This record gives sequence, structure tokens and C-alpha cells, in this order.
Amino acid sequence: MKPAVFVLGAGIVGVCCALELQRRGYHVTLVDRRGPGEETSSGNAGILSYSNVTPLADPALWPRLHRLAMNLDTDFLLHYPHLPSLVPWLLSFLRRCRRQTYLHDGDAMSALTLASIDLHRHWIDDAGVQSLLNRGGGLKLYRQRRTFLRDRLERELLQRCGIKHTPVDADQIYELEPDLKRVFEQGVLIDESISTRNPEKLCKAYARLFTEAGGEISRAAVRALHPTETGWQLTTDRGAQIVDRIVVCMGAWTPQLIAPLGYANPLAIERGYHTVLSAQPGRQLSRPIFDVDASYVMAPMEMGLRVTTGTNLVRRETQPDPRQVDRVLPRVREAFPVDQRLIDEPWMGRRPTVPDTLPMIGPAPRHRNLWLAFAHSHMGLTLGPISGLLIANFVDGVKQPFMAQPCDPARYL
Ligand SMILES: Cc1cc2nc3c(=O)[nH]c(=O)nc-3n(C[C@H](O)[C@H](O)[C@H](O)COP(=O)(O)OP(=O)(O)OC[C@H]3O[C@@H](n4cnc5c(N)ncnc54)[C@H](O)[C@@H]3O)c2cc1C
Repeated sequence: MKPAVFVLGAGIVGVCCALELQRRGYHVTLVDRRGPGEETSSGNAGILSYSNVTPLADPALWPRLHRLAMNLDTDFLLHYPHLPSLVPWLLSFLRRCRRQTYLHDGDAMSALTLASIDLHRHWIDDAGVQSLLNRGGGLKLYRQRRTFLRDRLERELLQRCGIKHTPVDADQIYELEPDLKRVFEQGVLIDESISTRNPEKLCKAYARLFTEAGGEISRAAVRALHPTETGWQLTTDRGAQIVDRIVVCMGAWTPQLIAPLGYANPLAIERGYHTVLSAQPGRQLSRPIFDVDASYVMAPMEMGLRVTTGTNLVRRETQPDPRQVDRVLPRVREAFPVDQRLIDEPWMGRRPTVPDTLPMIGPAPRHRNLWLAFAHSHMGLTLGPISGLLIANFVDGVKQPFMAQPCDPARYL
């Protein structure tokens, strides 16, 4: 019998780690203050996208830097009081906005993404939730040819990584999505992307595979971790207990837990918002679209058309600032015949991001029997299963595939 493992955090990453460890024969307890997939993993755009291989640190940001710094573009909103504490992170990020670094990080991301989507396909079959999927790929759409040309390095990366993508002109866009209005000049179809019509249900379906096979889910708020002679003392709002092995998958909340162990916070938290709209009667969207010039993603979901926004950099305690939602809604109306808002207040989520945009997956650098899987930025839904596989390899002590090394948490901790 293998030792017990506690996985802290039941977002998509924690659930996938728990499931993979269980399949390797560990007795796994998954701990969360909420139900599986009810935090960041619920409100995202639901895209398991092969095009998620592109790092955020893109050389194309340089000519836009002054606009971004002045909050002139909708895809980025900086809360100025947060700037001084962000400077080290931003400098490290900007140093990566070079062609060679971009391609290097993109290669690493593509290896993770391709492997993870393959695993998703198996797990979706195992969980019997094919009905939660949209097919037909995803569309990246450009209103201006200038923006399309600006993104050429991204297409070079997709080409280099062997990711199927098809440039489409205006007529082809409207053949694919006849209800779109004629505002787009150019697009790229990411042919094999899949997307879910309900990311929270997908996460809960994986959690159900885990509990049906005997896994335990404990509803508790984690307060502290203390190393002991043989393992860890785990303190939650339900008391303290001694446990052998711990995997921390608490997303944006991970740094708070590991700071007392001497690990500095490596994250910028990119908030993102969503609202949900209905389509006008008889109109429909069959796949997610990313309207690049207007800075939103619109994804067809069970609850309606979910519209998600770009990056809002703020301090943790700042109140929600859904200005980006307000800014994109008129642009959404230009592009698609939407009707009404179906939720009163925008949903807010946190994307925890390190400067190279790759996740932090692996052993805690200075502690035994403690592993970390967090900082999944814009790609956590896509990268859940590969995170689980790599963590289970670490816990098992088996040889890792090459894609584990770039995710080593020691690079920032
Ligand atoms: C607007 C938006 C759109 C996105 N779109 C996509 C997309 O299309 N595709 C994609 O791949 N990714 C997307 N993402 C990113 C993706 O949603 C995240 O990367 C992913 O959900 C991260 O999963 P996680 O398990 O690491 O974190 P979370 O889902 O945040 O899970 C962390 C868990 O830890 C728990 N927790 C925290 N603190 C404690 C505590 N003290 N005690 C107990 N439990 C605790 C929380 O309750 C939570 O359940 C998007 C994100 C946003 C915000």
C-alpha cells in the first residue's frame, strides 16, 4: 500500500492531481473550503486550446508599452497603487519579451498543452461527459489587418510546434459562423481546439471519477503547514493532523500558505471577469471566438454566451473593478446579435502568473514530501491533466518526461 497524500485545493489542477495519484495507488484526500471547481476553474472561457502555447511575454508588446502603461487598451488594466510592488515582476516579464525567449517558452508550453489535451480526451471519455463539449475548433478574429500582421510570431510558433491552424478570410469566417456581423477581416481557425460548455461541471465530473474510486473530499479551510520529523502538520478550520505527503494546488492562494516556509511570492495576479449574455432569438455561436482588436473571448456555454475579459493587475485586497466588461460590451454588440445580460454582477477570477507564464509544478525546493502545482495563468483548465501526471511522477519518484524541467518551481522560489 502506498502512503497517503493530501492534495490541497480542488480546482481543476488539484482534482487532476488527486485523480492521477489515486490511479497510481495512493490513498488521496482532496481538501478545499468550497466544492470542486467552484473558484477560478468555474468562470473561465472553457477552452482547451492548442493555441494556448503562446507566452504572454511577446515582443509585440514593446510598441504598445506606452498605451498599456496609460491603461489605453482594453486588454490590460493596471491599478496604479499596485505598481511599486509589481516592478520586480514586470522587469522580469519585460526581459522575456524577446523573440528567442518567446519561442523557447512557447516550445515548453506546447509540449505541456499537447500532452494535456490528449489526457483530457481520455478523461472526458472515462467520465462520460462528451455532451459538455463544443466541437469545431476555436476562432481567433481580427478586425484590422494590422493586428493580424502584428501577431505573426504567434503563427510562426504554432507552425513550429505542429499545431494545426488555418488562416481564414472574411467570407470563410462567415461560413463558419453565419450569425457573426461583418466586422472581421481576417481570422485563424485553431482546428482541433475543444471547449467545454461548462468548466465547473467538467471539473466536478473528474472529481466524481475520484470519489467513485474511493477518493475522499474534505470540506475545510486550510490555515497552515508545519514540517515535522516525519512529515507535515496540516492545520485547517477543523483541527490539526499529521500527514505524510502534501501537494499544494491552491492557485492564487498558494503563496499565502507557503510564505511562512520561506518562499517569497513569485506571482502577479491577473484578474479576469466574465458576464453572460443571451443571443437574439434564432441566432447562435457554435465555437468560442477571440475578438483580438476588441479584447474579449465569447464562448457558447450551457448558461448562455460567456464573455471573458483580459488582464486586470491589482493588489489582492482591491475591490472588483469590472470596467473591462463595460468597455467590451459595445464591441460585442458590434460583432454578434446579443440580447440581454443574464447575470447582474460580473464574475471575477484570478489568474496567478509568473513572468515566463509556465506553471510551477514540482517539489518545493527546500522541503521534503511537499509538492507544488500552481501559477497556471491563462491555461489552467487546459493544463490540469498534465499537471496531475507530472505531480504523480514526482511523488512516485519516477523519471519525468522532458516537459517537467521548465516548470521547476525552483526557478522562482
Ligand atoms: C476570465 C478567465 C478566463 C480563463 N479562460 C481559460 C480558458 O479558456 N482555458 C484555460 O485553460 N484556462 C483559462 N483560464 C485559467 C484557468 O481558469 C485557471 O488557470 C485554472 O482554473 C486554475 O486552476 P487551479 O486549480 O490552479 O485554481 P482554482 O480553480 O483557483 O483552485 C484553487 C482552489 O484552492 C482552494 N483554496 C484556496 N485557498 C484555500 C484554503 N485556504 N483552504 C482550502 N481551499 C483553498 C479554492 O477554493 C479553489 O477551489 C481563465 C481564467 C480566467 C480568470
